[in-house]
Amino acid sequence: MKAILPLFIFIDACGWEIIKDDPFCQTVAPNRRRLESVFGYSSACVPSILSGRWPDEHRNWCYFVYDPKHSPFRMLKALRWLPKAISSRRIVRRWLSKLVKVQLKFRGYFDLYNIPFEHISLFDFTEKKSPLRPRGMNRGPNIVDFLEESEIAYHVSDPARTETENFDAMLDDVKGGRIDFGFVYWPDLDGLLHRVGNQSPEISPKLRGYEERLRWLLDVAHEQYQEVRLYIFSDHGMANCDKLIDLKASIEKLPVRMGKDYAVVYDSTMARFWFFNEAAHRTVTEALRKIPDGAVMPDEELERLHCLFPDRYFGELIFLLHEGVLIVPSHMGERPIRAMHGYHPNEKHSYAALLSNQPEIPEEVTAIPHIYNLMVRDAVLAHERNGASGPPSAPEEDPIPVRRRMPQTKPEPETVTGFSACVRVPSLEGKNL
Ligand SMILES: [Zn+2]
Repeated sequence: MKAILPLFIFIDACGWEIIKDDPFCQTVAPNRRRLESVFGYSSACVPSILSGRWPDEHRNWCYFVYDPKHSPFRMLKALRWLPKAISSRRIVRRWLSKLVKVQLKFRGYFDLYNIPFEHISLFDFTEKKSPLRPRGMNRGPNIVDFLEESEIAYHVSDPARTETENFDAMLDDVKGGRIDFGFVYWPDLDGLLHRVGNQSPEISPKLRGYEERLRWLLDVAHEQYQEVRLYIFSDHGMANCDKLIDLKASIEKLPVRMGKDYAVVYDSTMARFWFFNEAAHRTVTEALRKIPDGAVMPDEELERLHCLFPDRYFGELIFLLHEGVLIVPSHMGERPIRAMHGYHPNEKHSYAALLSNQPEIPEEVTAIPHIYNLMVRDAVLAHERNGASGPPSAPEEDPIPVRRRMPQTKPEPETVTGFSACVRVPSLEGKNL
């Protein structure tokens, strides 16, 4: 029997507001804490958890940026002649995204979302590698790099697999007592919340299902390990979207032209602008300041949130909507979606959660990048303590390697709304937005 198994269970979008009045995992992980999220979508949150660093350090923030010189999408420009009824269809976009991903050898999650083909050659895509794989960050190492360098036997979910497949694979490695660190990624709650909202009666059964799985996993783990250190956590919460705003139409009414005077990416909860002349900067800024549903983010605020990029790579001006307002249509989706995240981290529904069976979580664990520190601490502890009980036993007939590489792709989104959205993680964002 081994001494310790650290188990990190990542339930996407299982925010503080989702569980604070629910007995979710009260028995197996009674120590609960609200955590601050990272400003941005899953494209920012997940890399921050995996690396313990913030967007201004690792530079995994928003997916699309204005960078015509490096745009790999020139070949798609010819598609601008397609009628919108075809080019904006989700099924067409998903099929094309798969094709482009293979062609461009992108290793992470990729989606063309709703970026118009007319302007697509102005943009580059910033996540060409998967932050879930070794050396997958835009800058610096992640937890998988750490585990590999430290030669710690680990199991990490593969986002290309379903929740059930990932659960079975983890169960298998735990059963064999072959790992000193386990990381499970469950994205389906995020997809469900995007679709039905945060007050739906469908949420409780989903949480009960997770509890059942966790109890099963813990039972199996306790047969092989004397102690299981359990951490259940999320990257952000989910806000219902009760107000839609056609920001694109408001901007396009101004006497400035996209591609000539400015460039913009309309994410679902924010718009990021680059300007080519001072008049455009002034005209757009003045127009944005008159919109009561959002605000231009001051540099000081972006800096405080660790999302200020001195080279303005992700945008010179960031206009962020208030919680509950959604840009429709946006470059992320043509149609509305019931709920979204990616608002200011201090908005009520942005907060993430951490639940543990460990009675003491260090006080300095206050935001999601700090989960990385817990992962490193417990992986090292388990590796040291388990080493004394001998090397991991060889699998009898197990097709799954002990060191599981991280995911190459994220799961296909279960988008029902047509909002591809969640800018990043694949379930809606495929979930990933
Ligand atoms: Zn999402």
